[in-house]
Amino acid sequence: MSKALITGIAGQDAAYLSRLLLDKGYEVVGIDRPGRPGAPLPRLQGLGVAGDVRVVGLDLTDFSGLSRLLEREQPDELYNLAGQSIVRSSWQDPIQATKDTAQAALTLLEALRLSWPSARFLQASSSEMFGGAKQDRWDEATPFLPHSPYAVAKLFAHQSTVNYRTTLGLHASCAILFNHESPFRGTDFVLGKIADGVARIKLGQARTLQLGNLDSQRDWGHARDYVCAMHLMLQQARPGDYVVATGRTATVREACRIAFAHAGLAMDDHVVVDPALVRPGEVRCIEADASKARRELGWEPKTGLEDLIVEMVEAAHRRGGR
Ligand code: GDP
Repeated sequence: MSKALITGIAGQDAAYLSRLLLDKGYEVVGIDRPGRPGAPLPRLQGLGVAGDVRVVGLDLTDFSGLSRLLEREQPDELYNLAGQSIVRSSWQDPIQATKDTAQAALTLLEALRLSWPSARFLQASSSEMFGGAKQDRWDEATPFLPHSPYAVAKLFAHQSTVNYRTTLGLHASCAILFNHESPFRGTDFVLGKIADGVARIKLGQARTLQLGNLDSQRDWGHARDYVCAMHLMLQQARPGDYVVATGRTATVREACRIAFAHAGLAMDDHVVVDPALVRPGEVRCIEADASKARRELGWEPKTGLEDLIVEMVEAAHRRGGR
């Protein structure tokens, strides 16, 4: 039986990855922040796997604690999904964001190198690392130009992973993940906010939904599909870096239209643009090119934008708004 260690076990991606690996017969050990032993993990519960994942609490910058954990657990695969994931919050506390994302990844890599170098390592990198890249298609060769403390920290973790692979020989890979969502997404992210807003309007709890830049574009996929790419990456004989995206870019306005139309509502009657929500230094997203993942991994996203949004709106409606 293979064993996987997953950091950031409380998060959206860890829930989908746990489900995938358990279905494949893995033993799954999750790492959560310390000091919350026995705390409920609603996303694991939501996918029916809370009782099947063994959770340990550990600070990912605790080098000796990590080394001991690796020696004890001896995992075949280690997925680093931890980190503060809200770009805006990284401006509020850039030092903590850097510790959680950059220092944690380096500590994991160093503990792995010294204590258990045979494990295969996956770093969850982010399309935010491209930031202000001027190219019209973004792929693995596009130069990074990060625009936020979050993106800079992610880039440090990404380059450290590349370094430990190319210089030190670890089987270490990076998934450069474009936006990926699910019903587990909170309202800090625009699709979660739209799904929640539509449900609340439908349920008569609200009349309007305040949003920022409606013309902003993203490539949105389903987290359930993206964790399949992560798993496939660690099954390859040779490690590498892969863009994981659908290849379809849509505007926030289009996403809104889909969500409102599904609920039988007209978005123009309810959406209000709040200038305070329009971001300065907005990341431009033109076109993501995931052809390397399609070609080398045989990976295909299964869920399109419409189905993703419908799933999110229906889940928000079932929850009865927040
Ligand atoms: P991000 O790509 O990780 O920043 O994911 P988000 O879901 O937070 O934002 C995606 C896009 O939606 C960005 O271009 C935002 O500027 C845009 N957006 C427009 N209105 C909103 C809003 O009310 N909340 C959020 N979070 N994003 C918004």
